[in-house]
Amino acid sequence: MKHLDCICEMSSHCADGTQERSVYLTFDDGPDPVWTPEVLDVLAQHRTPATFFLIGDAAVDRPELVRRIIADGHEVANHTMTHRDLSRCEPGEVEREIVEANSAIRMACPQAAVRYFRAPYGSWTKEALKASASTGLAPLHWSVDPRDWARPGADLIVDAVLAGVRPGAIVLLHDGCECSRSDPRDQTVVALSRLIPALHDRGFTVRPLPQHH
Ligand SMILES: [Zn+2]
Repeated sequence: MKHLDCICEMSSHCADGTQERSVYLTFDDGPDPVWTPEVLDVLAQHRTPATFFLIGDAAVDRPELVRRIIADGHEVANHTMTHRDLSRCEPGEVEREIVEANSAIRMACPQAAVRYFRAPYGSWTKEALKASASTGLAPLHWSVDPRDWARPGADLIVDAVLAGVRPGAIVLLHDGCECSRSDPRDQTVVALSRLIPALHDRGFTVRPLPQHH
C-alpha cells in the first residue's frame, strides 16, 4: 500500500514534455550545518539542480541554509517538523507535523514555494496522504534508494544509483540525519561528485522536478 498513492517516478511525458532522459535528485533530512553546504558546493560545481526535503526543526535551527538552498536555485520541500514515523502518530499530529514544517520553511524564507511532501521512512499512511493533500502538497516518494544513510561506501552508492536509474527516476539521498542522530554524510558528498558525471555519461539530464505532474 505504501507506494500506491504517491509519486515514485516521473513519467517521460511529464518530464517537461521532452524525450530527454531526465532524472531527479532529492536530499532528505537537512538542512545540516556540515553536510548541506558540502552537497550544495558539489551541485554548484556541476550546475545541477536538486530538491531538498527539509525537517522543520532543522530549518528553524539553520534558516540561513534554507535561504542558501533556494538562492542556489534548488527547491525545498516538506519532510515533517520532527521526522516522526507518521504511522505512529494520531491523525491530528500528522497534519500538524506537515503544517508546522511548512511554516518553519516559510519563516526561514518567505518566498519559498513548497510543492512536495515526503513522509519520513516512506511511511505513507492514509492520514499522511490526506494531510499532504489538504495542505496542497504532492506526495513524492522515490524510485532509486542507494541507502546512502547506511554508509556503504561512496562506490557502492554510485553503483546502486546507476544500476537502478532510468528516465524519470527519482533518486533518494541524504544531506542530513534524523534529529536524534548525527551520522556523517561524507560518502554521500563523494558519491555525488562521481554520480553527476556518470549520469551525464549515460545520457541522463538531472532536472528540477517538473512544474506539473
Ligand atoms: Zn527522512
